[in-house]
Amino acid sequence: MEHDSSFLFSQFGRQIMGGQAGYGFDFPASTDPYELLRTVCARLPLLVVFYDNEGQIQSINQEVTSQLGWDTGDLLSRDFLSQCFPDSKTQRQIRYWMIHSPSGWQEIPVHSVDGQVLEMLWAFVRFPNGAGLMCGYNITDVKLTQAALLETSDRYALLTRGINDGIWDWNLTTNETFYSSRWKIILGYQDHEIGNHIDDWLKRIHPQDVERVKLNLMLHVRGQTPQFHQEFRIQHRNGSYRWVLARGLALRDAHGNATRVAGSLTDLTEHRPAEAQLLYDALHDSLTGLANRTLLFDRIEQAARHGRRRPDYKFAILFIDIDRFKVINDSFGHSWGDLILIELANRLTRIVRPDDTVARIGGDEFVILLDDISNNSDALGVCDRIHATLEKPFIVKDQLIRLRVSIGVATRSPHMDKAEDYLRNADIAMYQAKVAGGDRYQVFSEEMHLTARDRLSFEVGLRQAIERDELTLFYQPIYCLSDNRLYGFEALIRWQHPTQGLLLPDRFLPLAEETGLILPVGDWVIWRACRDLQHWQEQFPRWQLSVNVNLSNRQLMHPALVEQVVAALEQTQIPPDRLHLEITQSVGIDQPEQVRDRLLQLKAQGIKLSLDDFGTGHASLCYLANLPLDSLKVDRSFVKLITETAQQPPIIDAIVSLAKALHLEVVAEGVEHPYQVTRLRELGCDYAQGYYFSQPLSIEQVEALLAKKTSLN
Ligand code: C2E
Ligand code: CA
Ligand code: CA
Repeated sequence: MEHDSSFLFSQFGRQIMGGQAGYGFDFPASTDPYELLRTVCARLPLLVVFYDNEGQIQSINQEVTSQLGWDTGDLLSRDFLSQCFPDSKTQRQIRYWMIHSPSGWQEIPVHSVDGQVLEMLWAFVRFPNGAGLMCGYNITDVKLTQAALLETSDRYALLTRGINDGIWDWNLTTNETFYSSRWKIILGYQDHEIGNHIDDWLKRIHPQDVERVKLNLMLHVRGQTPQFHQEFRIQHRNGSYRWVLARGLALRDAHGNATRVAGSLTDLTEHRPAEAQLLYDALHDSLTGLANRTLLFDRIEQAARHGRRRPDYKFAILFIDIDRFKVINDSFGHSWGDLILIELANRLTRIVRPDDTVARIGGDEFVILLDDISNNSDALGVCDRIHATLEKPFIVKDQLIRLRVSIGVATRSPHMDKAEDYLRNADIAMYQAKVAGGDRYQVFSEEMHLTARDRLSFEVGLRQAIERDELTLFYQPIYCLSDNRLYGFEALIRWQHPTQGLLLPDRFLPLAEETGLILPVGDWVIWRACRDLQHWQEQFPRWQLSVNVNLSNRQLMHPALVEQVVAALEQTQIPPDRLHLEITQSVGIDQPEQVRDRLLQLKAQGIKLSLDDFGTGHASLCYLANLPLDSLKVDRSFVKLITETAQQPPIIDAIVSLAKALHLEVVAEGVEHPYQVTRLRELGCDYAQGYYFSQPLSIEQVEALLAKKTSLN
């Protein structure tokens, strides 16, 4: 880190490092030189920190305490470096200087106990014995003065611009504003016809532009932009609007607070005839002034055309979407949301080259076209820069908030010309970045496109599946273990897909869950299962069968569920206790009361409730014991543990005993072997289903089974 105020160094260096032995003091021969140095340093108006040859802090002087507020004991007992320099990279750097560098100086800001950051110039001095000291000089004021000087010189550069520009100077303390004669002439007024208030300006700005001007002015006043620079329309005395460009710079006090803003006003109307204006409006986003979708599309297609002539030509599209922007908007209000968008637009514009296009194409969606890049990886560098620029918090209503964005990257593909396609690919990649947790970027790949397309057509297909009668139910028989009687069936959904054949639930239920389609699908299953049972009861009146229907968690918590189930039961005349609803163990762990209430409502109708896949989830026994259940289904992974050997895993016994203790009936799932049946029967398990008894059956197969059993009896 180089520092330009070398006068500081020489002055500072003389105090600490000049003279003999590298540390500048003539010691009486009898004195311990280090002790003497310590005594001297105690009185210096500089921060002094002594460390041993391993970089361990030995002592600090009074000035450290008074300037940084750190208590002596505090710093010596705790890690000095991490207290004062929270950034670990800085810490490493300092440690390096302490231990390895002979002598030198560095500009490193330091954190005080109350979180203030002081600009410091540090000298590092190594003693012959390997120990050393670092000595800090507070240059915060110097820095501020420097910055102010810089701004003032900029201001004069501004003021001396062509005589054609109007000049304005807004005093923030008094709110008075000076407008030069030329400023007033641009608007068609004589000197005495315009007041000296900031509103004399703002009230004449075009209603569509005024918010943007105010916001950008405010951002600059707060120090969030390096300068104020804004094109807008302002009303001329004759009523027409003229295009002007206002530029300005704030003058700040020692604390960085703006005291006045001054600048110029340039009349752009000549350069900007009405048609050009209309064109400008049509191609730009009115809130941020960035390119809009139309302009972006044009630029992308231009780049694609260019690429056809130059095969090695590369460009990239970055699709940027703010994570959880809705939450910010809802909690702070839309005008603050707008402010954030404007600020983000400014930051994005600052990190790309002037030739690149930054566009806003929707609420919180920004797109950058990086034109003519030398390498596709350049785009990733820009993504890193975007994330880095967001490390600096946004100030919203005096609160600091950090903005996170997800970015999707699509690079030039020789066979693709359409802007729409590029945008879609970048959007798909952005979506993947969101799915992966947000706050990251993702580069588009062809597989992503296929997955997205598959997903979409699959979703459309599933929506139509009900109307087109493509969903069917298979039924797996459940047997009573004590007398081998057929007890009922579990309804298992299948999708007879027009091109992909018979699909099992794991192929399409997750998507149905995600999209909410599980609600109409689940409703259909309940209704269909009741109707099928009704048919069998009519055909085979001797059988008293029940039907088990699986409920998804989302379906269980849907407000209309009870009503739907009751309607299905009433229409089909199925006694409620013949309908068994299976719920999964994971149901509503986060909202136990609501789940219990819902189950009680179902129970009040006389419906039976069963807990599916018992033993696989993480629900606590307490929670389960509290639910109004009738039975539980031991997951097939436990049944699988029952082998032919004499040694049996105690877990099965434990589960069955547990169910018995809770006064629940036990159904074993996935029974595949005769010895499993024997064992389950011994344990007192009530019912069982599985391939040993039967695979899930189609409706015709169920009817054949019932007919056969009827004739056998
Ligand atoms: P589940 O409730 O555990 O259903 C039992 C699954 O085990 C069924 O798979 C069944 O075919 C299979 N199975 C039955 N016997 C055996 C056996 O002996 N060995 C083995 N290895 N497997 C056996 P399926 O039909 O693929 O259903 C998978 C899951 O999909 C079901 O698991 C259930 O959670 C869900 N599901 C099925 N239909 C519906 C429905 O209509 N609504 C909801 N929400 N979920 C359903
Ligand atoms: Ca089930
Ligand atoms: Ca199950």
